[in-house]
Amino acid sequence: MTIVIGAGIAGLVTALRLAQRGERVIVVESESAVGGLTRPWEIGGIHWDRFYHVVLGSDHDTVALLDEIGIADRLVMRSVKTNLYVEGKLYPFSTPFDLLSFPELTPVDKIRLVATIAHARYTKNDDAYEWEGVLQYLTRWSGTRNVDRIWRPLLRAKLGEHHANASAAFIRATIKRLQGARRNGVGGECYGYVRGGYATVLQALERTLHDRGVELVLGRRVCEVAASEHHVRVTLDEREIEADRAILTVPSPVCAAIAPQLSPSERRVLAQDRYFGVACVSLLVNRRLGDAYVTNVADAAFPFTGIINMSALVDRRDLGGYDLVYLPKYAPPEDQTMTLSDDVLVSQAARGLSRVFTGFNEADVVAARVARAPYVFPFPRLGRAQSLPPARTSVPRLAILNNARLRYATLNVSDTIGVVDEGLAELDSDPAWRCTRESRALAGSR
Ligand SMILES: Cc1cc2nc3c(=O)[nH]c(=O)nc-3n(C[C@H](O)[C@H](O)[C@H](O)COP(=O)(O)OP(=O)(O)OC[C@H]3O[C@@H](n4cnc5c(N)ncnc54)[C@H](O)[C@@H]3O)c2cc1C
Repeated sequence: MTIVIGAGIAGLVTALRLAQRGERVIVVESESAVGGLTRPWEIGGIHWDRFYHVVLGSDHDTVALLDEIGIADRLVMRSVKTNLYVEGKLYPFSTPFDLLSFPELTPVDKIRLVATIAHARYTKNDDAYEWEGVLQYLTRWSGTRNVDRIWRPLLRAKLGEHHANASAAFIRATIKRLQGARRNGVGGECYGYVRGGYATVLQALERTLHDRGVELVLGRRVCEVAASEHHVRVTLDEREIEADRAILTVPSPVCAAIAPQLSPSERRVLAQDRYFGVACVSLLVNRRLGDAYVTNVADAAFPFTGIINMSALVDRRDLGGYDLVYLPKYAPPEDQTMTLSDDVLVSQAARGLSRVFTGFNEADVVAARVARAPYVFPFPRLGRAQSLPPARTSVPRLAILNNARLRYATLNVSDTIGVVDEGLAELDSDPAWRCTRESRALAGSR
């Protein structure tokens, strides 16, 4: 029997794969529902994702999972637009035509911008860019003016004052992923969502897991995982479970905290990852905020990463006829922004929207909520891909398949599924791990 710790996408897919091979699986999750970052909630009577989620055409593993759990027909793909807010003005920024008519850059700057995007998208050797600073790379390809006007404000919006320490591999991965959404020619981007939001995906996953006999233990935080030669013991708040092996899918700081037997070098690798969390304001508004799904804001005074208007993608009838807008702010968990009260963040968000969208004011807000997560993605420091957490650890019967194992990608569901599939394949090829499967089952809880 295997215990999977964490019921986010990584934990649920790990459980699914093991159950598909006929293994007995228990998933333990500290929250009262499955889904992790994809979990839905209620805002102003609307049930939708706490954090915005789209599916890109290039998200092959997500699309395959939807098919596997019987909801492929619920995926809706649509053409969407992107805006860029810069120097106090809002510009369409989806198509080559938008770029050509963008007044803030010279023709040479525009050519260099296109060359940067083409280079990041089409060149493959990401290892070569792992140790290069992001600003150095962008300056080399785009030039100083593009860096100052476009790239640096966007990087600062995502990574704050730490942006200069990020690796070029990060921006290359971001560009590759976003370009994966582009349609051929001049048609802009094509994004998708699942009807009903991620709640539909999670319900279908839970159903599939249930049918395959997977047990979900919800609302129970794992405090410690201790392994011996013969079994692994997982301590929950007021209960212990013994199993043949355990797989951690929780963020690296949690892995380090609950698995004290990890070796000093493994703990060093886990500790090297400085995580960014997110505080994300959701506003349900009684006013149309244009037709762009993403408005990138290249303005240091704007306190959020950007503006995501879910109603530009999702049928407004599914959102009560309102616009559902997200304003995320990414920062390390200890950053001052993460401790701001919900009221402060909501009023910053409303003020921010009124600057970007003429005519918008706070009275247009029908409902507001703030979702927070302390650990979302490891900061993309130089050389990070060279020291990822191990799949099989030095602790017998204990493996880590968390999203810190993403090599060259920005965090997303499809690549999270890929991490699980690759990690399980790596474990399967490891004789020491394989033999834990056949060992004496000490299953049972007490
Ligand atoms: C703002 C935002 C927007 C995003 N947009 C997109 C998008 O548009 N498209 C896309 O594909 N992806 C998007 N993502 C990324 C996507 O949500 C993640 O890739 C995915 O959800 C990661 O899943 P995970 O299982 O690795 O981690 P998590 O979802 O973090 O799951 C970890 C789970 O472990 C649990 N846990 C933690 N500690 C313990 C413990 N001690 N005991 C038991 N359980 C524990 C947590 O409660 C959680 O449920 C977005 C993420 C964010 C934050």
